Amino acid sequence: MISHVLPTYNRAPIAFEKGEGAWAIATDGKRYLDLGSGIAVNVLGHANPDLVAALTEQAGKIWHVSNLYQIPQQERLADLLVDHTFADTAFITNSGTEAAELAIKMVRKYWHEKGEDRIEILTFEGAFHGRSTGAIAASGSEKMTKGFGPLMPGFRQLPWGDMAALKAAISDRTAAVMLEPVQGEGGIRPLPDADLQQIRALCDQHGALLVLDEVQCGMGRTGRLFAHEYAGITPDIMMVAKGIGGGFPLGAVLATEAAAAGMVAGTHGSTYGGNPLACAVGARVMEIVADDAFLAEVNRKAALFRQKLEGLVAAHPDVFEAVRGQGLMLGLKCKLAPTDLVKAGYAQHLLTVPAADNTLRLLPPLNITDDEIAEAVARLDRAAASLA
Ligand SMILES: *Cc1c(COP(=O)(O)O)cnc(C)c1O
Repeated sequence: MISHVLPTYNRAPIAFEKGEGAWAIATDGKRYLDLGSGIAVNVLGHANPDLVAALTEQAGKIWHVSNLYQIPQQERLADLLVDHTFADTAFITNSGTEAAELAIKMVRKYWHEKGEDRIEILTFEGAFHGRSTGAIAASGSEKMTKGFGPLMPGFRQLPWGDMAALKAAISDRTAAVMLEPVQGEGGIRPLPDADLQQIRALCDQHGALLVLDEVQCGMGRTGRLFAHEYAGITPDIMMVAKGIGGGFPLGAVLATEAAAAGMVAGTHGSTYGGNPLACAVGARVMEIVADDAFLAEVNRKAALFRQKLEGLVAAHPDVFEAVRGQGLMLGLKCKLAPTDLVKAGYAQHLLTVPAADNTLRLLPPLNITDDEIAEAVARLDRAAASLA
């Protein structure tokens, strides 16, 4: 008989009832060190006092009103996003997938308004942009698209990081190039800064829009507020979600005024998107994470963590191949199935997340302590030893 919860996930037999910072406490009282953060979501850890205060304060006032009215909390969040990025404007969503859908619509509308017949969006193998019909078509991955055809047309996938293939594919008919600066689900695969610079230049040369999906790599995860900042370039459109709500469902599309020109009243909407509750939390997350001193700490901890992980890889050459990633978006390329390591981690009361390309993802809260990093590596060491 089918489970009452639609069985689209292979779930671990653990339920958590409480969280404290980097720790998630299961119903049996066991404390798990959380290097998954709900897949890069809980950037400030569990039950962060600042976020609990922001949420409960707003919860006592008003939860939902509708975008039929002014929403000061939404304006505050949009102000923060615009002030700290390339963007001139932001639309607030409830998730990353919704952000991807709007980004695709925005690209199409941009070219429609210009009166140019450009519909092709170039994307990359290994990409993940969500699970809606549009987002699975964008990724093109067989695993996500099989059985869900016909796929939405207008996307073409290129090998990840293959600049020659991109140069050959891009033309004056290209509507946009869309990519994650660091692929998350694809296996913590950062694109070199020089490649991102070259993609920006190719887009400029052909008039195509550059759409960056920073749903997983954004919000301080890589040690900069947004990962593309390392390359010194800016996109025309960017998707944000996951970390921005610190655990509350929230996402956003950021855009330049030019890219957003077609999105006038009536062209897009959302019942819940930009509600006061989510935006009160998101604004607090932005205030904390967009701070230079906070980001400097992320980088210091990332260097510490990475150094210890290099030692771990050296100590277990049969289990691990290499450390990859940037900031606290880290991956361990494995020589065995990463799901086996995830399971061995559970036995050590450690939470990690598998990804494609045989990679184990380590996505701790950005405010994890030095002691917790040392403890995490000790548990990873025991987990690896148990598999040797
Ligand atoms: C998780 C993710 C999405 C989808 O976000 P949801 O909130 O799950 O809809 C899109 N893009 C990237 C890069 C992601 O990691």
